[in-house]
Amino acid sequence: MREYRIAAIPADGIGPEVIAAGLQALSALERRMGSFRLHVEEFPWGSDHYRRTGAMMPADGLETLKTFDAIYFGAVGAPDVPDHVTLWGLRLPICQGFDQYANVRPTRILPGVTPPLRDCGPGDLDWVIVRENSEGEYAGHGGRAHRGLPEEVATEVAIFTRVGVTRIMRYAFRLAQARPRKFLTVVTKSNAQRHGMVMWDEIAAEVSREFPDVTWDKMLVDAMTMRMVLKPQSLDTIVATNLHADILSDLAAALAGSLGVAPTGNVDPERRFPSMFEPIHGSAFDIAGKGIANPVATFWTGAQMLEHLGEPEAAARLMRAVERVTASGLLTPDLGGTATTRQVTEAVCDAIHSAN
Ligand code: ATP
Ligand code: MG
Repeated sequence: MREYRIAAIPADGIGPEVIAAGLQALSALERRMGSFRLHVEEFPWGSDHYRRTGAMMPADGLETLKTFDAIYFGAVGAPDVPDHVTLWGLRLPICQGFDQYANVRPTRILPGVTPPLRDCGPGDLDWVIVRENSEGEYAGHGGRAHRGLPEEVATEVAIFTRVGVTRIMRYAFRLAQARPRKFLTVVTKSNAQRHGMVMWDEIAAEVSREFPDVTWDKMLVDAMTMRMVLKPQSLDTIVATNLHADILSDLAAALAGSLGVAPTGNVDPERRFPSMFEPIHGSAFDIAGKGIANPVATFWTGAQMLEHLGEPEAAARLMRAVERVTASGLLTPDLGGTATTRQVTEAVCDAIHSAN
């Protein structure tokens, strides 16, 4: 029996609702497959922990997490706690502490979901966006001089390193190679940004020589937004910087129907540390406690986690179950339906037992 230790951090808002749903599906899968065991430990970290102790997680939090095989994460953020406290107090220390440099965001239109684009159905949009997750525009470099004065100047410096760009480029080419179309689009803005972005283009060309069977092209990020909307079929695997991919993946989630179905993996491809899997959405306090949060993103990221752990069959079974349920029209309100989190979860668990 293969055994894995999972750290679950439900955290804030709808996080606990969707993680409970996700764990229910994972445990149904475990029973149905009989080939692996998940030992799940839950950690009550997040905004409540902050209100009680002044910190989002204990000081030795990363040491504790280090011993796990993967982290299953809900969402952070609360109306009464500043965003920089919630983000920098929990999610980002995990991403940075464990050097989860590849942020992997699969997007496709699930059956039964009506996307905003006319004439665009399942099969027309099937992408994986790879976001550089450790440097770039969010490296935190820069500052402000003459604060508040008319001559004030602020700089926001993007840092790109050869090591950082090469490793994300290799990850993206390898991922593209593993997908049927073997096609990668490298997104930059090298016409206007003449240093870091030109280095991205150069490194893409260098790394591409290691992958002669992968076809690739380059897009400027502005033109890329048009291509995503006008020719979604022309894209497959996409790699972009921290900022660009942040923006493009929200667009991708919207084109696929809802933020509520968009999953993400924060991956350490070298497997030195645990990787973290979470829905893209936030804590969504407007619907928290109402029982209507869409659990599909959390199921999907659970499948990403199983794939990462080396359980691709379980991952595929989980996705088949999710697709069977969406195809049946059982949808939460964000997708235009009337189903509750619990109804969708129970239907997915039933489908796990019956689907083959
Ligand atoms: P945060 O500050 O943590 O990012 P937020 O309140 O800004 O949270 P999101 O959680 O990102 O916002 O959600 C944006 C919108 O999408 C909200 O109206 C929310 O209700 C909706 N939404 C997000 N996730 C889901 C979901 N899983 N199911 C249904 N609706 C969702
Ligand atoms: Mg938000």
